[in-house]
Amino acid sequence: MDRDFGRGLYIDGQWQQSRSGRSFPVTNPADGSVIAEIPDAGAEETRAAIDAAHRAFPAWAARPALERARILMDWSRAMEAHQDELARLMTDENGKPLAESRGEVTYAAGFAQWFGEEARRVYGEIVPAATSLKRIWVLRQPVGVVGAITPWNFPAAMVTRKVAPALAAGCTVILKPAEQTPLTAIAIVRLLEEAGIPPGVVNVVVGQDPVAIGDALLDDPRVRKITFTGSTEVGKHLMRRSADTMKRVSLELGGQAPFLVFADADLDLAVQGAIASKFRNTGQTCVSANRIYVEEPVVDEFAHRMAQRVKEMRVGRGTEPGVVVGPLIDRQGYEKVKLHLEDAVRQGASVATGGRVYESGGGFYAEPTVLVGVEERMVVMREETFGPVAPISSFKTEAEALERANATPYGLAAYAYTRDLARGVRVAEGLEYGIVGLNDGMPSTPQAPFGGFKESGQGREGGRQGMDAFLEIKFVSVGLG
Ligand code: ADP
Repeated sequence: MDRDFGRGLYIDGQWQQSRSGRSFPVTNPADGSVIAEIPDAGAEETRAAIDAAHRAFPAWAARPALERARILMDWSRAMEAHQDELARLMTDENGKPLAESRGEVTYAAGFAQWFGEEARRVYGEIVPAATSLKRIWVLRQPVGVVGAITPWNFPAAMVTRKVAPALAAGCTVILKPAEQTPLTAIAIVRLLEEAGIPPGVVNVVVGQDPVAIGDALLDDPRVRKITFTGSTEVGKHLMRRSADTMKRVSLELGGQAPFLVFADADLDLAVQGAIASKFRNTGQTCVSANRIYVEEPVVDEFAHRMAQRVKEMRVGRGTEPGVVVGPLIDRQGYEKVKLHLEDAVRQGASVATGGRVYESGGGFYAEPTVLVGVEERMVVMREETFGPVAPISSFKTEAEALERANATPYGLAAYAYTRDLARGVRVAEGLEYGIVGLNDGMPSTPQAPFGGFKESGQGREGGRQGMDAFLEIKFVSVGLG
């Protein structure tokens, strides 16, 4: 795999430098070393990419779905075939342990496969009319040029979760990956090029200043859709700014996931689920268990078993064998984890295991930590930590657990562990969240709709529903005379 990213912009089928010739460094969060220099693009390059995507749209939309599907299937197989190289690149720029990077490549390839399959199922409808002299057709057509903005925490999967359904639907795309992790995105778009994507159908614009690129996308009326994963703050900004040209928006924003454990749960399974949810990607996921609520009679036992398991987890560089918790993405992430931990301890929480947040050899690290005796007033329970800190609090009744779980403006993912079927149904239905893991700490999969209630976003990605975001509905009323 080519490790030269000097021509990392992809516009109208051409890999190129920025117009100014300026570039910026991408660093390895494990040690701060520079991995690559990539072009620093702005509004001008973004406008050129929009021109290309706009020109390419009619021919791409007109292609038979089966042909678009074949390209997506080939893309999926190419990602799988390059799993090790892609994983290595991802670990270098994002920090996550290699095994997780490999898993993400499979997850990312899964979206290309799933939407390759779904491309052929964009069905319309024929609705019975009120008179014999009319026919009613309902068609689904691609929305047009799409601006796709992705975050650094899943450098491959967030790209394919957006780009694959857009392409399947017949849309063309300008992809803007996060400035921290553009290399994986560039590498997988190179594979898409090899799979035969025509010039202009997918364009990649990377730059240090996301506002310049974002504004160029937002201001242009030819961009009909913005699909974004990232912070709630930026998501709200994009939604507000989309209003002027009435762009469609899909937003996957922050979470504040509660993780409920009832006394009748299989505690080992619950511990395993909590660890999978909490520590994957060093706690830097929007579905990460942010608040663990355990029913009073089993809280000590649960915390004990979890701390025993967490104590064994090794922190370090993602490329080192045996490491399961990598570095935090940057200093800002580190400061946040530190603040959450210090605030909790100052207000009376105790550290059952872990607790150290430190700089080492140019990287920022946090030990996987279990906090007990945590209360709602602590910052760690009120804000998304985005780090490997598991705060445990106790509850007395099911009603209290649900009330506390729902007492947040966010609504992305929630988890509940119980062996009581009726309780499981009540709780799954009562949680105001777009995703519920019922006795499951890892619910995300390409074939299910992923997305949030409330301030966690708008629209769904993945699943059959993931196509809807890229389709317009057209009603044709046919008069027969
Ligand atoms: P995080 O805090 O996880 O970095 P952000 O919401 O800042 O989340 O970033 C997610 C993505 O949004 C990145 O690709 C980033 O470059 C981009 N981004 C940030 N600000 C803007 C903006 N004003 N317009 C468009 N994209 C933006």
